[in-house]
Amino acid sequence: MEVHVELKTASKMFCNCKNDPDEPKPNTNICPTCTAQPGTLPIPNKKAVQWTVKIGKALGCSIRELSKFDRKHYFYPDLPKAYQISQYDEPIAEHGEIVLEFPTEENIREQVKIGITRVHLEEDTAKLTHANDGSTLVDFNRAGTPLVEIVTDPDFMTAIEAKIYCQELRTIMRYLNVSDADMEKGHMRCEANISLQEAGKFEIVDGVVKALGDYKLNNKVELKNLNSFKAVERGIDYEIKRQTEMIEKGESWIQQTRGWNEDKGETVMQRKKENSDDYRYFPEPDIPPFHPVKIAGDISLGELPQAKRKRFHEEYKFSYADAKILSDNKNWANFAEEVISELIEWLDSLPETKNKAENVPQKITRLAGGWITSKLMGILKEKNKDITGISFTAENFAELIALIYTKRVNSTNAGKILLIMAGSDKDKDPTHILEEKGWGQVSDEGKINELVEDAIKSYSKQVEEFQAGKETVLKFLIGMVMKASEGNADPKVVEEILRGKLS
Ligand code: ZN
Ligand code: MN
Repeated sequence: MEVHVELKTASKMFCNCKNDPDEPKPNTNICPTCTAQPGTLPIPNKKAVQWTVKIGKALGCSIRELSKFDRKHYFYPDLPKAYQISQYDEPIAEHGEIVLEFPTEENIREQVKIGITRVHLEEDTAKLTHANDGSTLVDFNRAGTPLVEIVTDPDFMTAIEAKIYCQELRTIMRYLNVSDADMEKGHMRCEANISLQEAGKFEIVDGVVKALGDYKLNNKVELKNLNSFKAVERGIDYEIKRQTEMIEKGESWIQQTRGWNEDKGETVMQRKKENSDDYRYFPEPDIPPFHPVKIAGDISLGELPQAKRKRFHEEYKFSYADAKILSDNKNWANFAEEVISELIEWLDSLPETKNKAENVPQKITRLAGGWITSKLMGILKEKNKDITGISFTAENFAELIALIYTKRVNSTNAGKILLIMAGSDKDKDPTHILEEKGWGQVSDEGKINELVEDAIKSYSKQVEEFQAGKETVLKFLIGMVMKASEGNADPKVVEEILRGKLS
């Protein structure tokens, strides 16, 4: 995989222009340097170098002692200099590794190590728009945006692995706060190199695919225009299928670039590469070699997504799926973290759990994780709200979890309370709502007894059916009692009493 990531530095890579590739008004943030006027000189952006070092470290790379920029020559209207300032043989970072984790599913390895070949820094090009009349428009707002290119070793065995890799990369970029990494906006652009070989006829040595015996390696196919994670998966899957069919028919193919057509669901030939491009790389004479580590200074990565996921799973006992959902977004992760710390404090204040809070009961943290991912996320999605836009505090959410945990409210009513909390623009206290609405759970057995007796009288036919062995009817009877209690009875207690009376 080759992934390009636009950095969100304040200014561009080699000039002082505002770096805002999403600016809708064409050619707003431009100057003689980023429009390639003769005589202009590039001045590298220090922050961009620092952030590339940061990315390199987060991907387990070693940072080069000495690095330099190079000119990569090619002619295209989005690049009026006719060369891109990039890095060739001395990239800022190299030889890293990222470990992908999968929830156990068939046909996928549980942990997959992907080698990072290199991480280098370059400049983005201008943006071309092809108009209906056949003309092409050039917008230089994006020209000179700092661009980091991340190249992996040939370690992917399935399309899903490639998709998970891209998703993990996006999460890391957002954690590091160096890019919004929005694929739809082109902040992150993924390309796949797919070259299927016959099993047993090749080996991979130091990240290079080598033929065994007199086997001739099949050519590389570069797949572009993968504009979403779904497209990454579908495009690669299609290409694997296409190449497999060709191999089975004994056909071969030339090196080529293909584009993914989302509407047709197929890849189409864009460019034949009889010979690989000759970019005539040479060192950029206007920028001296530099020491990335010295420029970067002390760098703190903070907790990376994978470490957070592991901690959520192991320490908080969130299910793996919950841990993943919550760690994928830093704001949700922070909210979950606050809720748990409130719950620990609360448990610490109770005589029965006092000073035992370091062994946080799995039941309550799992409960909290589940309520955040299944209930709260759903409610906010429906209200088109983000976790940063809620008006209730983590403290009050934790209180709601505590109410459920101590069985003072059943989950139906707790859901109603949460709906009120999420719909209000004030920080509402769940205990107040509970008392106001009279939604407290009835666990008073005397009261439930009465309701059960009533139900047995009113639904004698169903009672007979149950006693004749039709177990499923019990659910109906529980439902009727719950309805009579206006949803306030503890369904477990109801079932217990019902079974007791009917056996
Ligand atoms: Zn400029
Ligand atoms: Mn590139």
